[in-house]
Amino acid sequence: MAAQSLLSSSFNFKGDEHGFRVCKSKSKPLHFVKVSSGHKVRAQAATNADSRGIEIPKHWYNIIADLSVKPAPPLNPRTFEPVKPEDLAPLFPEELIKQEVSSERFIEIPEEVLDVYSLWRPTPLIRAKRLEKLLGTPARIYYKYEGVSPAGSHKPNSAVPQAWYNAQEGVKKIVTETGAGQWGSALAFACSIFNLDCEVWQVRASYDSKPYRKLMMQTWGAKVHPSPSELTEAGRRILESDPLSPGSLGIAISEAVEVAAKNPDTKYCLGSVLNHVLLHQTVIGEECIKQMEAFGETPDVIIGCTGGGSNFGGLCFPFIREKLSGKMNPLIRAVEPTACPSLTKGVFAYDYGDTAGMTPLLKMHTLGHDFIPDPIHAGGLRYHGMAPLISHAYELGLMEAVAIPQTECFQGAIQFARSEGLIPAPEPTHAIAAVIREALHCKETGESKVILMAMCGHGHFDLPAYDNFLQGNLVDLSFSEEKIRESLSKVPQIVS
Ligand SMILES: *Cc1c(COP(=O)(O)O)cnc(C)c1O
Repeated sequence: MAAQSLLSSSFNFKGDEHGFRVCKSKSKPLHFVKVSSGHKVRAQAATNADSRGIEIPKHWYNIIADLSVKPAPPLNPRTFEPVKPEDLAPLFPEELIKQEVSSERFIEIPEEVLDVYSLWRPTPLIRAKRLEKLLGTPARIYYKYEGVSPAGSHKPNSAVPQAWYNAQEGVKKIVTETGAGQWGSALAFACSIFNLDCEVWQVRASYDSKPYRKLMMQTWGAKVHPSPSELTEAGRRILESDPLSPGSLGIAISEAVEVAAKNPDTKYCLGSVLNHVLLHQTVIGEECIKQMEAFGETPDVIIGCTGGGSNFGGLCFPFIREKLSGKMNPLIRAVEPTACPSLTKGVFAYDYGDTAGMTPLLKMHTLGHDFIPDPIHAGGLRYHGMAPLISHAYELGLMEAVAIPQTECFQGAIQFARSEGLIPAPEPTHAIAAVIREALHCKETGESKVILMAMCGHGHFDLPAYDNFLQGNLVDLSFSEEKIRESLSKVPQIVS
């Protein structure tokens, strides 16, 4: 049976002679099941994923509404007073500022955004049966896979609404920074959908070494500059003192923020860390709650990787709501690299979001705003700070955190790729390593826990990191307490 007959308009719906049958069930829209002659194939038993039986959620969830202790407000970097909405107006459209400070429990997702989400949402929730078998664990492992989006990660979940609200308010151009290129490509995609100009400052080192993300951004119509650049004061200042600077996320943020602040028709977008970004990502967890129900499962442990905290918060926050209301009691575990351990080794303090100190001060777990992880660290998650909302939830004891070295992460990624097939982005390899630790622990104790993992993106553009690992060139960095102590000494002293 040739696959193309499924697409042809003359396809015979009663086409048993084609070996296909159209199945319709209560919970699922139309789908096709191969029926081999002489054998009964039970559709449900043969299905690992459940993504089609549910609808895309109609709202995002704001965890602030359910926290008895509210997080500390961001501070104006000049006055050290709480930031006022008008302080943020040069950078962000009004609607996103409202979301940033909102305490509403649910915020409606605009129709136009839902329409774009429907290009790849709902995303699949998949039972990792083959990984379970490989590990010989009695645990049941599920992963929520966000790599099916056009950019290959969870980032478009926020890029799309951010671009849409900007377009609604008459903004013509959006500027941003990107490190490895995940956020820049997600925003370039979103801007192409809503006809916005997009300019991206990409950290010089990855601009040079990872050309494919840059080409994706250009394909979607964005302009990409290596950072530091000659186009901004912040960039020129760095280049004066170090003409060969490889750049950093903190520097690229300073450049993009400066451009937005100086141009009235230009706004700035951030891909993680801020409240409204985590808000948008909760579409992941809302979907996943329904999908776990469809599997008849309740998670005992939920595990995700944290860079700025957006994919982790996006999956976990709706589950934390269910936990706070007594409906379930999962353990919630963030995983970070030992090379950039903001939750496990940082301080909880007000610090800048960028290197030049232009952004508001955020109360967060930070390694210091000029901390730069060792360049040989391959696993992404390089930001010096953690989302204030994740930091706050951690302080309240709603979740725990571990740091895992990169060779263990890549070993886990190889096991995952060779059992489940997907090649993970370097970031979620941290979650995979932690899931494997948990599953092997279950093997020892005989517990059949339900483990849920955030699988936030694929690694198709990160294969040089796999090359490094497979060639044996990836090593664990000796952890430098001294380096962290030095950058922590630059965290501003603010009495709050
Ligand atoms: C950007 C990115 C991350 C890190 O950001 P968070 O805000 O912590 O989610 C993790 N995984 C992937 C695939 C990313 O693109």
